[in-house]
Amino acid sequence: MTQRLYYHDSFLYDFEAEVREIPDGPRPAVILDRTAFYPTSGGQVFDTGTISTGTNEDLNVTEVVEAEDGRVIHYLEAPPKNIGPGTKIHGQIDPTRRRDHMQQHTGQHVLSAAFVRLYGMPTVSFHMGNDYCSIDLDTPTLTKDQVEQAERLANEIILENRPVQIRFVTRDEAGKLGLRKIPPAERDELRLIDIHEFDLNACGGTHVNQTGQIGCILLRKAEKVRQGWRVEFVAGQRAVATARRDFSTLTEAGATFSTHIYDVPQQIRKSLDEIRTLRKQREQSLEELAEVQAIALLAQTQATAGRRLVIRTFSEREMNFLKLLAQKLTRLDTNVVALLGSTSPQPSLVFAQSPGLPNDMGSLMKATVANLGGRGGGSKDMAQGGIPSSDGIEAALKNASASLNG
Ligand SMILES: [Zn+2]
Repeated sequence: MTQRLYYHDSFLYDFEAEVREIPDGPRPAVILDRTAFYPTSGGQVFDTGTISTGTNEDLNVTEVVEAEDGRVIHYLEAPPKNIGPGTKIHGQIDPTRRRDHMQQHTGQHVLSAAFVRLYGMPTVSFHMGNDYCSIDLDTPTLTKDQVEQAERLANEIILENRPVQIRFVTRDEAGKLGLRKIPPAERDELRLIDIHEFDLNACGGTHVNQTGQIGCILLRKAEKVRQGWRVEFVAGQRAVATARRDFSTLTEAGATFSTHIYDVPQQIRKSLDEIRTLRKQREQSLEELAEVQAIALLAQTQATAGRRLVIRTFSEREMNFLKLLAQKLTRLDTNVVALLGSTSPQPSLVFAQSPGLPNDMGSLMKATVANLGGRGGGSKDMAQGGIPSSDGIEAALKNASASLNG
């Protein structure tokens, strides 16, 4: 078993140790007799840093894990060259990363205890991510007000700068102390984290010495999950960085709307209302335009044996407008066939006939788009198709008209 130096001092950032083993395996790694590097466990992620040898070899530690037998495995960026069992090394962990982890992790203790004290909601799991952390609470409901009250109490405990002490007790002693929960461990000795007169909890992680060192806690999203509620939070410098990022985002949104950041939601609602109104007006205008255009096209088109054939290619007309126009053309008169195309924004075709005419627009469309490498189809009276290129649209409409029955 590797001796855990962080068990007694979370602020120990560098240490001396001896190499025990260079394990075989696909990833270069080293095992020491003792270490200050924290291996991923209990929701807290690993430390990074360097292991240096007397031969000026600096090994970058990229991940640290705990083996089942209690050994701590330090994974290295590159295979070590000049070390073996017995080599003396100097270990240095990344202090910024460790401080961040201590802030998040101790913050979690305070927050979990706040939810228990205020609402009797136990924490069932803890997750530490790169951007934010989260706890899962065992509760069927959680209100916005409860979230804010828990955040407030947690920050009060931080402001009171209470001592955070490490205590080692036997399982029997732990049972009498009123722990939040006792872990099912095989060892008899338990490591307790005691936040003075607020929380007592068995934990193997790294913690600050005083709650003031957490800095602050900011609660973020609260969402219902399968077994309760998940509450996201950030502590310390992360909370400041998150608030800074939120402010930058809101400032950018405010500048876009030429408004104060607190008025951004109202401005967004106003803009969405405007968009909805404009969309409605546009639909109405297109319908009117289609009707006027249909009347003009029918007036320009000579009837042959009582039937009017309208063949027309447009640019800058969407498929929906072609369909609208085809509908108007074939409804305003009882004997109309319309073969319409648009070259842009998307090359498209619409074929339609007045109800009761003998053609099959669906199969005519299928045959036409098949020749042009597109896709399409429809019913007997109305069909639509999209094609990859606008080249040859006019010729295709002409070809289609040649296969009409009547
Ligand atoms: Zn802990």
